[in-house]
Amino acid sequence: MTEAKIRVLDPDTVNQIAAGEVVERPASVAKELLENAVDAGATSILLDVTSDMAGITKIRVTDDGEGMTPEEAVLAFHPHATSKIRDIADLTDIRTLGFRGEALASIAAVAEVTLITRPRGAGALAGTRVVVRGGEIVEKSEVGAPEGTTIVVEHLFYNTPARRKFLKSKNTELAHLYGVVENLSLAHGEVAFRVVHNGKERMATQRAAGLLAIIAGLYGADLARTLVPVEARLPFLRISGYVSRPLESRGNPSQVFLSINGRSISSRPIAAAIREGYGTLLPKDRYPVAFLDLSLETDLVDVNVHPTKREVRLSREREILAAVTAAVEEALAGHDLVGERPAEP
Ligand code: ADP
Ligand code: MG
Repeated sequence: MTEAKIRVLDPDTVNQIAAGEVVERPASVAKELLENAVDAGATSILLDVTSDMAGITKIRVTDDGEGMTPEEAVLAFHPHATSKIRDIADLTDIRTLGFRGEALASIAAVAEVTLITRPRGAGALAGTRVVVRGGEIVEKSEVGAPEGTTIVVEHLFYNTPARRKFLKSKNTELAHLYGVVENLSLAHGEVAFRVVHNGKERMATQRAAGLLAIIAGLYGADLARTLVPVEARLPFLRISGYVSRPLESRGNPSQVFLSINGRSISSRPIAAAIREGYGTLLPKDRYPVAFLDLSLETDLVDVNVHPTKREVRLSREREILAAVTAAVEEALAGHDLVGERPAEP
């Protein structure tokens, strides 16, 4: 008798395969941890990265969000365990950044993760510390901890050498990581983000400072000063943000920052619709800088397209794109495109 040809894979192998989809590089770890912190209602989030000559060695995210009970702290590492949806019906009304319940399980499958958490306002005197390595819980204990959650990820890809080989230089990986925080902070002005690398502050945003102040902090006051506000309301859609004057256009299309319902996304069609709004104001090979947020009824957005959720599918896409073009067109038309406009308060 020969061995059966088709086998059902064991859970560890399944988790490692799933991790391959979500955890591509250190920046993907940071993205998942930061998004969890935002979903937990944090008002202030710290990303602390440590690197040595060889690369990024430690990623730590600390938030002042709702925290977890001891039971939740263990469940959180279970594949497909989530507090954010209950069933298929909820998939049409996603208001959180996460919902797949896969990130922590995936990260813990390919790294060593330490979680320290204490629920907010629950009167719990102590917090919980859980250590998971290669998907196995190796420690669970009671510890003193502030309200909120800290997650430390170390030895990333220690058990997946193939993935480790694909990492780029340390500086490239750090750039990806900072990019993640930039995108998230543009879409979440209600949170103060701080990034520290090897003990030095790299970036900090103020809470509720307004989008223009966040843009100025990230990309410079010179750019922020010249941006043109965009604002449009349709029954099912609200568009808001800023676009550059034609004079401040760029030679490549990489400066379009989009978010839909607080989720930073990339979308060629929307980027093209923005450019369309410039009409003949932009030469063929020039691209605008744009920071646009679309608030849409949740049932018009399908975020369940790809594990990393950078791409979304839109219902009524043609109407949405037309509205974006019109909003940009209108913003530019109503603006003195040559003179400086007065700085925002
Ligand atoms: P998802 O975000 O899709 O639900 P995750 O694997 O990222 O899946 O997280 C699993 C669960 O762990 C979350 O649903 C949440 O309940 C809990 N959790 C994760 N990170 C935090 C955090 N920083 N604060 C509070 N709860 C958290
Ligand atoms: Mg998550």
